[in-house]
Amino acid sequence: MKNILVTGGLGFIGSHTCVELMNSGFNPVILDNLSNSEIWIKDRIEKIANQTVSFYNGDCRDEQLLDTIFSNESIHGIIHFAASKAVGESVLEPLKYYNNNLGGLTSILEASKKHNCLNLVFSSSCTVYGTPDSLPVDESAKIKTAESPYGTTKIVCERIIQDLSIADSTFKSILLRYFNPIGAHETSLIGELPLGVPSNLVPFITQTAAGHRNSLTVFGDDYNTKDGSCVRDFIHVTDLAKAHIKALEFLLNKNEGICETVNIGTGNGNTVLELINAFEKVSGKKLNYSIGDRRSGDVEAVYADASKSKELLGWEAVISLEQALLDAWNWQQSLEVN
Ligand code: NAD
Repeated sequence: MKNILVTGGLGFIGSHTCVELMNSGFNPVILDNLSNSEIWIKDRIEKIANQTVSFYNGDCRDEQLLDTIFSNESIHGIIHFAASKAVGESVLEPLKYYNNNLGGLTSILEASKKHNCLNLVFSSSCTVYGTPDSLPVDESAKIKTAESPYGTTKIVCERIIQDLSIADSTFKSILLRYFNPIGAHETSLIGELPLGVPSNLVPFITQTAAGHRNSLTVFGDDYNTKDGSCVRDFIHVTDLAKAHIKALEFLLNKNEGICETVNIGTGNGNTVLELINAFEKVSGKKLNYSIGDRRSGDVEAVYADASKSKELLGWEAVISLEQALLDAWNWQQSLEVN
């Protein structure tokens, strides 16, 4: 069984990816500093997969720890999720974001070179497109100046990996540009666990429906979209997790260096109001929401041209928006009883 180092493997996307790695016969080795996750997620991953996982509680900027991991475990590939991800916080604390997101990546790359592990899947984001010039947006679209330090870190991380690929023709990497991950595992054992006030829409919706928040604000209904609210490409986290396995298998089968950027989205745009309506329908809950002002930094509309992921990796999203919302709601309800 091939060992795969999964940094940030106890986080939202990382935990679902660990499950899919095990379902596909890989052995995840998790490195997580628990800065935005809980240790019990490890037990839940093991419960779903019916298998134990190796876990290192530590920081991916800790070079000594990385040496230990690479020496103890025979690592065939790396999926690098670990990063700080709250856009608003990144505006207030830019150094935290530059240090963690850029420092984390360069430490991982140094260790991967030192220990001759040449396969890297990196978590990037559609945020690199800013407001795209045309829709759906494909991978050749212009990279725009980021609206936040968080967005800048994703642009710079992509550039660091691309520069390394130029310098080292044996290095193999795939930069996955995620659109908007939502949902939770079908077992309701793992899902999104926001600390404090959620900055993502779906946890805000489920917490409002569960009575933890009085109301939800839709930021703007005067955009040039079908109902005036923003358009996003919402993708089920399990579909997204499976894209990582396809990307990893693609790299492991390649004999020469490569660096590819790939959109991971459904290819469909839905408005925020459509999402709210769909949630009300699947949950049977009426949401208390109001329309507020536009929020600075919000892009009017962004959704993926998802053809490259299909052609290059043989991957496409299959789970519906309704199922994703139902899974998110079931996960929220499971948190109420635990
Ligand atoms: P998350 O916060 O749930 O998971 C990240 C995990 O990394 C957490 O468990 C955290 O404890 C850990 N971590 C952070 N810094 C670390 C460090 N220095 N060393 C070790 N562990 C560390 O986030 P997520 O939603 O699962 O996102 C995973 C990746 O995907 C991130 O790189 C994020 O920027 C990217 N991404 C997320 C989204 C989204 O909407 N969730 C969208 C696009 C891209």
